[in-house]
Amino acid sequence: STAEGNSGATAFKVESPNVRYTDDSIESSYSYDTTIVSRDASSGQLKAKPTQVQYQFRTKTHVGRVGLMMVGWGGNNGSTLTASILANKKGISWETRKGTQTANYFGSLMMASTVKLGVDEQLKDVYVPFNQVVPMVHPNDVVIGGWDINSANIGDAMRRAQVLPVDLQRRVYDDLAQLKPLPSVYYPDFIAANQEERADNLIGGTKQEQLDHLRQDIRNFKQANGLDRVIIMWTANTERYADLLAGVNDTADNLLQAIADGHEEVSPSTLFAVASILEGAPFVNGSPQNTLVPGVIDLAERERSFVGGDDFKSGQTKIKSVLAEFLVNAGIKPLAITSYNHLGNNDGHNLSAPAQFRSKEISKSSVVDDMVGANNLLYKKGEHPDHTIVIKYVPSVGDSKRALDEYVSEIFMGGLNTISIYNTCEDSLLASPLIIDLFMMTELMTRVSYRTANDADWMPFHSVLSILSYMLKAPVVPPNTPVVNALAKQRMAMENILRAFVGLAPNNEMLLEHKAF
Ligand code: NAD
Repeated sequence: STAEGNSGATAFKVESPNVRYTDDSIESSYSYDTTIVSRDASSGQLKAKPTQVQYQFRTKTHVGRVGLMMVGWGGNNGSTLTASILANKKGISWETRKGTQTANYFGSLMMASTVKLGVDEQLKDVYVPFNQVVPMVHPNDVVIGGWDINSANIGDAMRRAQVLPVDLQRRVYDDLAQLKPLPSVYYPDFIAANQEERADNLIGGTKQEQLDHLRQDIRNFKQANGLDRVIIMWTANTERYADLLAGVNDTADNLLQAIADGHEEVSPSTLFAVASILEGAPFVNGSPQNTLVPGVIDLAERERSFVGGDDFKSGQTKIKSVLAEFLVNAGIKPLAITSYNHLGNNDGHNLSAPAQFRSKEISKSSVVDDMVGANNLLYKKGEHPDHTIVIKYVPSVGDSKRALDEYVSEIFMGGLNTISIYNTCEDSLLASPLIIDLFMMTELMTRVSYRTANDADWMPFHSVLSILSYMLKAPVVPPNTPVVNALAKQRMAMENILRAFVGLAPNNEMLLEHKAF
């Protein structure tokens, strides 16, 4: 028997003149409070002016049937996620050395963490599940499919990945063996040469024909499963960066023309992004390469379709985006952050090639920029801690990635503080729940619209979903807007934006109700 998830469930109703529940939506009127700072030209004095902007938000409450198509479905992440969702859906338990283990969604912010709703009459905190602040899709209700350049069925892919315990593998194998990835697009130049022997499940033809083929795949999947919405997720190999070329990938029209011309700098991942956008399907890039070239973003804006990226923020970088924020906000000055990784899965094999390693190095290295830039007491303009990233392929550790980090910081009176971290974990068990969070949040954004006092019409949010930043190492944000890497800020943004959708004030930790005499 399979358990449906509780898609669309919310844990509470808001009682407020600013919130309206209709048959198919929740509408809120919301006052967004900010502080506008200016500098007096003659005295140089800073002036801070509290400012309010009135927003209205509308969240459609009907979630509908949602599909997730993964590119790289037969990889460690794709097969682990598919097996794990199936195990949750079927309520599967399995035997381990320590006893019986049941399927769960630990590691998913949406499925396994809570948000403070408010305080009760005794002033005690009341928490609700993150996914029940506004109606969201439940992973058990999602139809999964996708593409892989390797033809292995998902059961065999799961075995090859060597991630999940054997007894669990046995219980889901037969179902997963029925699932076969669709053929995909392979341009050998974009991923490591050592991946070539995997490539036995390919779409031929010209770039334009391949684009049309992928679009048809999305339409077919939608139709065959009776879906209202499909979300596309790149969890295939890390590609090298594509060169940014004027006239090729700089605008939507140039990019479409470059595809028609079969230009060699259009990568497989960019082709998938374009296919998704043209089908109105949100596309999220879970790998570090620059899939979302300016032409893709231009096209997404034009088509009012959503894109997000780059690179799942799973282990080392997640900790870095916590620790660097802690240090800098404590008035401690990181001088050097040195990160070693070694891993033995196929991702590690692919990253052992220089061009693919370089993509990862870039996405890992910008993660402390905003924290450093926020503190001009510690860092002069342009000053930056040393930041070094090393990744090595060590086959015998398999998916159990090792990350070693050293943080050397300057403390009081010229003293030094060294923090050393050793992190070991199944890589794919960290990444798979991020895929869940990304598709849940992305799906929600397809149902939300807003307007300000100046807008006549309801509008979707910007095509580039910066709200996904928490799950991503190198968040892509709308042009000319700030990138936030600090993990606590990223979570706070998500939590408070969801609260705004139901007309609730942002959470803060003032606890004034507990500070009175
Ligand atoms: P993997 O190598 O096990 O899986 C990738 C899959 O993609 C393979 O099955 C491969 O055959 C397939 N593939 C390659 N090119 C393709 C194409 N053009 N079309 C369709 N399929 C294609 O890797 P993984 O461990 O599952 O990781 C997937 C991606 O996620 C990697 O780029 C990795 O860098 C990124 N990532 C992983 C983590 C993590 O696991 N913790 C964190 C951040 C980012």
